[in-house]
Amino acid sequence: MAAEVLINAGIQVDLYDAMPSVGRKFLMAGKGGMNISHAESFEQFVLHYGDRKENVEALLKLFSPEDLRNWVHSLGIDTFIGTSGRVFPKDMKAAPLLRAWLHRLRTAGVNFHMRHQWQDVTVKNKVNLGFSSPNGNVNVTCDAVILALGGGSWPKLGSTGAWVPLLEEHNVHVSPLKPSNCGFEVTWSDYFKVKFSGQPLKSVRVSVKDIDGVVRAQTGECVITESGIEGGVIYALSAFLREEILSKGSVTLGVDLLPHLDRDILIKKLSKPRGKASMANHLRKQLGLDGVKAGLLRECLLSADFENIEYLCSMIKHLPVKLIATRPIEEAISSAGGVSFESLNTSLMISQLPGVFCAGEMLDWEAPTGGYLLSACFASGKVAALGVIQKLKEAC
Ligand SMILES: Cc1cc2nc3c(=O)[nH]c(=O)nc-3n(C[C@H](O)[C@H](O)[C@H](O)COP(=O)(O)OP(=O)(O)OC[C@H]3O[C@@H](n4cnc5c(N)ncnc54)[C@H](O)[C@@H]3O)c2cc1C
Repeated sequence: MAAEVLINAGIQVDLYDAMPSVGRKFLMAGKGGMNISHAESFEQFVLHYGDRKENVEALLKLFSPEDLRNWVHSLGIDTFIGTSGRVFPKDMKAAPLLRAWLHRLRTAGVNFHMRHQWQDVTVKNKVNLGFSSPNGNVNVTCDAVILALGGGSWPKLGSTGAWVPLLEEHNVHVSPLKPSNCGFEVTWSDYFKVKFSGQPLKSVRVSVKDIDGVVRAQTGECVITESGIEGGVIYALSAFLREEILSKGSVTLGVDLLPHLDRDILIKKLSKPRGKASMANHLRKQLGLDGVKAGLLRECLLSADFENIEYLCSMIKHLPVKLIATRPIEEAISSAGGVSFESLNTSLMISQLPGVFCAGEMLDWEAPTGGYLLSACFASGKVAALGVIQKLKEAC
């Protein structure tokens, strides 16, 4: 996005990437359906950036979710709004979009240099960059550089986070990269693990108290994994869950297995005589509670708990599942942490390194999935490019 804004302003652009081709994570984002943005109001949209709302809102004001949709259309790709308000390219894929975009950038004159691993930067009058490449070390002198090196998740797609110490050497403050939109570890019994890993928990409501004691909850789906739990509702709460684990060593997730039924109704139904039926059958017949949901109940409770109907119903509505760690950052959809906004001016230029700008996931913000990640990446790319244009004007 930065390259596009700059080349359209008549500035020569050279784009370097360590990988053999660009946009590998962008392509991966398209695998399960590329959710590029969300159709909710701007006021609602920006709430998803948590503590960094103000910083990201300033970026999105210059390239809004609406602008992003129009930009996709300008590439000849239609978009649609899903039932949940999420915005997708019509065919849900990233590849046609990336192809059309790269074609447009190349035609406009952007020079691509692949397999160039950025190694260092020095700033005097100009910005000097050092790269390693298959042809040896390459030095480049330019008027300005925009670093858009990604976070730390899925490093095999190029975003290794190897840039962190390189910027710290220049006293740039970087908050540690941490997994975001990630799965969590739970110590399941061998029986539960073997029987239920890979199974979806459909329509549950999960909740957690954040560090300020505010209850954060999500209704939807998640999946039991061999090592714990992951999926939509877990990703949405991942920032709160992660921070609780970091401060207390573990966190208890409350799982409402039957969010559409009140506890009183559960008590009424389960209090019906069950005759010779086993408790498992009674739960299935009266509440439709079976399969992985019933398995989770057994996993987290003692046998005696099934004799006390009122307590059992409380547990069905708020089953405590202890999460002990995040899954590794390598598996996370995105990362939190990065170059702190306090190290940057409003154009995203590093204060200690005039002429060096930053954009994308390498900045210190995080957001849930739902198009919020790409939207902020695009917007920050545009803001950094506008900052470069301004700086070049001032230098003339
Ligand atoms: C499985 C998955 C699904 C996702 N789905 C969605 C989704 O549906 N919607 C959404 O909004 N977001 C989604 N995301 C997140 C989104 O893809 C990222 O937030 C976004 O791609 C980040 O863009 P970026 O340009 O900041 O970094 P990246 O896309 O990570 O790009 C960084 C680039 O920098 C290069 N690089 C890094 N270090 C160096 C170096 N030292 N020298 C040279 N080059 C370097 C890398 O090779 C890479 O090409 C998903 C992510 C994953 C992993």
